[in-house]
Amino acid sequence: MSNSRGRFGIHGGQYITETLMNAVIELEKAYDFYKNDPDFNTELTRLFNEYAGRPSRLYYAERMTRDLHGAKIYLKREDLNHTGAHKINNVLGQALLAKKMGKTRLIAETGAGQHGVATATAAALMGMACVVFMGEEDMNRQALNVYKMRLLGAEVVSVKSGTGTLKDAVSQAMREWTSRISDTHYCLGSVMGPHPFPIIVRDFQSVISREIKSQILEREGKLPDFVIACVGGGSNAIGSFWHFINNASVKLIGCEAAGKGVDTFETAATISTGRLGIFHGMKSYFCQDEYGQIAPVYSISAGLDYPGIGPEHAYLHDTGRAEYVPVTDDEAVQAFEYLSRIEGIIPAIESAHAVSYAMKIAPELSSEKIIVITISGRGDKDCAAIAKYRGENISE
Ligand SMILES: *Cc1c(COP(=O)(O)O)cnc(C)c1O
Repeated sequence: MSNSRGRFGIHGGQYITETLMNAVIELEKAYDFYKNDPDFNTELTRLFNEYAGRPSRLYYAERMTRDLHGAKIYLKREDLNHTGAHKINNVLGQALLAKKMGKTRLIAETGAGQHGVATATAAALMGMACVVFMGEEDMNRQALNVYKMRLLGAEVVSVKSGTGTLKDAVSQAMREWTSRISDTHYCLGSVMGPHPFPIIVRDFQSVISREIKSQILEREGKLPDFVIACVGGGSNAIGSFWHFINNASVKLIGCEAAGKGVDTFETAATISTGRLGIFHGMKSYFCQDEYGQIAPVYSISAGLDYPGIGPEHAYLHDTGRAEYVPVTDDEAVQAFEYLSRIEGIIPAIESAHAVSYAMKIAPELSSEKIIVITISGRGDKDCAAIAKYRGENISE
């Protein structure tokens, strides 16, 4: 897929300062060794299975299938993982790698707090120190996750620069890493940033498609026709796509957060509205203003409102191997409510973006066709916000 130095077509690369170069070179060397180390892989598999609860189930959504009168629908249940989402796959991998490298401290950025909680969890498990950078604005909005991170033993640092949100937290974490690489690993939360992060995070998340493939072959004796996942930075999506990329018959669809619509400024749909740019160490597509500055983004889903997309997705879009579609707040909320009622599964509002698109295409497909939707996380965290969206105020 990529040639040297982490290029995906014209995307990816390492657009970073000289000082950060030392850190990523050390990381790249270590990863090149450990990814093929049997002990490392045995240990990681044990953590995945015994700690995170893998393999996650591939569930046949029979009532949803019957209701939509079309393709057969399966749900890949990443919501059943420990900590409630796919993020644990990546942080367990990176924390184990950091430990093997002799690091004793993890730092991370977080937006809504989900990646921060996952990183704090892995740090507690491995007995490592943990510092999470979080925008001031996000800390106010996500007090419960701030509490959880502190409960797990992490220090949460408030980032006041810029808009005090996710992109500023990433910038701050990169600066912090530059000044302290001897004992610290930067546990990046999605398939973004400078090489080798997009590859490392993809490889750790690729367990999702490895499992889907064997589970669907066992169940149906054939590959799915569609794999659908939501895209923020793109880690659960690339993890869901990876082992199907060379199976041309499998259509790969990423669902972006359109917010209030791609014709408004309140959107986070990078492929639909963004342009080529360089930010956070990578070349990819980014939401930008008319001067090329990173634009403020919006989505009802805090996990999807990053102004960029991972470089491998930008490449899969350029080549046409994957398709990226926008899904609005309204559509996602409807899907959130629909899946809760029809299957008794409350999906994360991020995952509901993928559910929504499946609801759109399934009725037009024959009953021979198979759709797999990745449910990237569970929706408990979203109930208060969705109730509010519907004009109801519930206190937690
Ligand atoms: C963080 C998050 C996402 C978005 O991140 P990706 O890197 O695009 O996968 C999606 N779903 C859930 C449940 C999340 O917590």
